[in-house]
Amino acid sequence: MKLKLLALLMTAAAAHVSAQVTDAMIANDAADESSVLSWGMGTQGQRFSSLTAINTKTVKNLAPVWSMSFGGEKQRGQESQPLIYKGKMFVTASYSRLFAVDVKTGEKLWKYEHRLPEGIMPCCDVVNRGAALYDNLVIFGTLDAQLVALDQNTGKVVWKEKIDDYAAGYSQTAAPLIAEGLLLTGVSGGEFGVVGRVEARDPKTGKMVWTRPVVEGHMGYKDGKENGISGTTNATWPGETWKTGGAATWLGGTYDAKTGLAYFGTGNPGPWNSHVRKGDNLFSASTVAIDVKSGKIAWHYQTTPNDAWDFDGVNEFVTFDMDGKRMGGKADRNGFFYVIDATSGKLQNAFPFVNGNTWAKSIDIATGRPNFVPENRPGDPAASADGKKGSSVFAAPGFLGGKNQMPMAYSPKTKMFYVPTNEWGMDIWNEPISYKKGGAYLGAGFTIKPLYDDHIGSLRAYDPKTGKMAWEVKNNAPLWGGVLTTAGDLVFWGTPEGYLMAADAKNGKVLWKFQTGSGVVAPPITWQQDGEQYISVVSGWGGAVPLWGGEVAKKVNFLEQGGSVWTFKLPKS
Ligand code: CA
Repeated sequence: MKLKLLALLMTAAAAHVSAQVTDAMIANDAADESSVLSWGMGTQGQRFSSLTAINTKTVKNLAPVWSMSFGGEKQRGQESQPLIYKGKMFVTASYSRLFAVDVKTGEKLWKYEHRLPEGIMPCCDVVNRGAALYDNLVIFGTLDAQLVALDQNTGKVVWKEKIDDYAAGYSQTAAPLIAEGLLLTGVSGGEFGVVGRVEARDPKTGKMVWTRPVVEGHMGYKDGKENGISGTTNATWPGETWKTGGAATWLGGTYDAKTGLAYFGTGNPGPWNSHVRKGDNLFSASTVAIDVKSGKIAWHYQTTPNDAWDFDGVNEFVTFDMDGKRMGGKADRNGFFYVIDATSGKLQNAFPFVNGNTWAKSIDIATGRPNFVPENRPGDPAASADGKKGSSVFAAPGFLGGKNQMPMAYSPKTKMFYVPTNEWGMDIWNEPISYKKGGAYLGAGFTIKPLYDDHIGSLRAYDPKTGKMAWEVKNNAPLWGGVLTTAGDLVFWGTPEGYLMAADAKNGKVLWKFQTGSGVVAPPITWQQDGEQYISVVSGWGGAVPLWGGEVAKKVNFLEQGGSVWTFKLPKS
């Protein structure tokens, strides 16, 4: 009798434990189709699902199940990827909001609205890209540079931690990453001379474990003690310039359990005027691989040394297998696609994924360095007659990049990357600038312009081994939403014109599209619930493009704002 009771108690305890998100579940996220626990649909960020019910034959029947409005008078850009766990969707929205929704009915279960102070300084709209799940918590970053952990069932605040001073330009827009039982986050604020870094916290309490600056010269810390300076002070930055060096880690990171490394991209160095910081300016515009256990940099690969074009190297580093080796693919803002050994950081392949790159002819595979075109670097204002404006150059890609925040997808089935690209350029020139806390730290002026009449955006399929483009689907407006691919041989992506699109992963033939009512600038997801495959995507036009549009404005100024999440499935036959 006693034994039976004990067994019952143990079952109850196990049931309680299994209701919570564990490290093992996060490690298995990409394979487990019943949930979506992390940004990237698995910490490697492949955004691939093995589900096949929705496929090239059935997708034509895909139909909406529900749509839920984020409401409010304030809408703006909705760049969030929803998470799914135990029949609940957790989705963030503009202005640092987070909703829990019943996945089958679309009924709102609870809402958290972060109280934002006056004077926040997000550079590129009031967006949020998603949350992280851990234990009984849903954790996300806010525009006033805080981390907030909420109870998944009630939406009540469990802990709250300040990342840094929003008045100095810090903010937080990326989804946090859980790896090896730690909550890994970066910072936003690269246009304000912040210092980029990666931080690891205890996800249950928010307590800091380690911090790793990604600008050379700054000290890292672990368990409250000094843990070594990043790089060598002044090796690649002159004078005091490293102290306001930027390199914001604003798009978050990916993690591969096989290498034990977390991969964070770093933004542009500050200021944009490259002449005041001669040198490579490590570790700006780079991929930085951090050993999660030690909080130290294992390797780095810099895509744009001494960046002069705002080529943030933040783009997601997606690990995959090629020729029996673990590689990482990265479609950089500078217009080149890089294939890098995920263990050593050695460059394996690099090729342009957009046309007309002006700043570099190619990437030298042996040295890993770009073959610069020196005359296409904007001129030094100090060399001009009145010292006020350097010579202007035309540069492509423009500063919004061959690719920006919208994450690509990789299919292990087709062995192709599906990359949301944009082809545009800019006139850019440098001006004198000095650092002022909370002030824009650019020292540059620019006008962005399209390169072609018929498109800016293009969804492109690339073979990472050959660098060959298999197919493309052009889009009039710039693409700003992420990509999903499935074993049903489908690729899903959204357009600013409001469509969620589905194409054949093998040849790019568009098989289905649905008008969501506002622009889609977020990545779609898929999962299985009670034996049925679902697709969800957030809709709501905004982000950097309408704020910085230049001559691109005429392609987007008719688009309407919104804020909702759509969910689709096949009708029951
Ligand atoms: Ca930037």
